Amino acid sequence: MVGMRTNFTSEQAPCGRTVDGEHYREEDDQGLIIYVQHYACGCRQSRHEYHDGSIHTQVVRHDKKKVVSDDFGPEHGA
Ligand SMILES: [Zn+2]
Repeated sequence: MVGMRTNFTSEQAPCGRTVDGEHYREEDDQGLIIYVQHYACGCRQSRHEYHDGSIHTQVVRHDKKKVVSDDFGPEHGA
């Protein structure tokens, strides 16, 4: 798989700070899409879109050092 990196500036991180960071996007040939945002403060947000249409998102705050949100999207089984 080949990922694509893009920088961003001044976006609000899950902790509430406005920081720069980097997007990372990766796709495989089965339709799985992985989308990750790394914030300069250390927060991280990731989103997995599966080939069946379900979406899994995960949010990690730098100040809590743990996952604060771990959801399967409403598309799952809806
Ligand atoms: Zn943060």
